[in-house]
Amino acid sequence: MINRKQIVDLLHFRSESDNVLSFYMGIGVYRSNRKAYEIEAKDMLKQAIAEADLPADARKLVEADAGRILNFITMEFRGRAKGLAMFASGPAGLWQVFRLPVSVPNRCVIARTPFVVPMLKMVDEGRRYCVVVVDKEKARLFTMYNGELFERTDIFDVVPGWHKQGGWSQARFQRHIEDHVNRHLKRVADTVFEFYKLEGFGHLVIGGSQEIRARFYRIIHSYLQRIVAGSLTVEATSNVNDILAAARKVEAEAEQKRSTEIAGALMGSSPSYITVTGLKETVRALEEGRVHTLVLVDNQEIEGCLCGDCGGVDILGAEECTRCSKTIEKMGDVSEHLAVLAVEHDAEVNYVKPGSGLEKADGVGAILRW
Ligand SMILES: [Zn+2]
Repeated sequence: MINRKQIVDLLHFRSESDNVLSFYMGIGVYRSNRKAYEIEAKDMLKQAIAEADLPADARKLVEADAGRILNFITMEFRGRAKGLAMFASGPAGLWQVFRLPVSVPNRCVIARTPFVVPMLKMVDEGRRYCVVVVDKEKARLFTMYNGELFERTDIFDVVPGWHKQGGWSQARFQRHIEDHVNRHLKRVADTVFEFYKLEGFGHLVIGGSQEIRARFYRIIHSYLQRIVAGSLTVEATSNVNDILAAARKVEAEAEQKRSTEIAGALMGSSPSYITVTGLKETVRALEEGRVHTLVLVDNQEIEGCLCGDCGGVDILGAEECTRCSKTIEKMGDVSEHLAVLAVEHDAEVNYVKPGSGLEKADGVGAILRW
């Protein structure tokens, strides 16, 4: 799973002389047909290399990177993730693989810098959900993002001593059953908090029987108590589709509430926030380092201008880049580039649902630090 620092590191990775191959693939549809996505990957890479039209030497190097990516897909990748993001540049010493919890559109980019935009939405912690389903003996942990659930067997497997609780005799187990359950719940609670510190999420959803949920809630860290978004009446042994259906409902309600709150703060109804809306004011605030949270509307395109040289963004009609004075070009959609600028300036990025009124202000705004 991705964290913000990894993306910032990639953003800052810039090679003077070598190409970086950035490769994204959604693999959900081919889960049962491995060969199909191998073929698809091969075609994508071939096409991207052909279109890049590189000199022979550079082409050879990129082909070697493409070979490494294909080899990974064929030999090492086991299809548990829903998407893959890979960044490769043999000569620049770059090789990174991210297994994504959500599907991503296929994309292959050859450039001097890694192409990280598709991963930016995934670092919006406010939209990441942790779903923990717990009973008296077992626990399962899932991450959820945008309606997709991803079971994290890696999390419970790494808890030291997790599997060393066997060997209870039946009598002893009976005597100590409550003690055993309490220690189990405590360990699950600790693991969830460790997971929070490791990867971050904006909401916690607790699943289980009503009794266990109540007990579990009492022992989780007070920070986690504050971000509980809802509960699920499911069993740890439930079918994953049943858990998903219940979790999606909680997510949909929480997302609607969050969108309304952020948009409300942005549209000026709260005196506790300093805000701007519209492309022009938002870009200025970003460049001045005043943005705490950049807010974009889901799937809304923002017409503007982009500096191909430094990545600076401006409004339509701008003639030169305010950052580097180079010629700036019209773009049908600069929303992704705004998100990159925000991450570069250490700001958070939030996406809200349409319908908040922000659409009318170019579909962009920001909550400011000052
Ligand atoms: Zn520029």
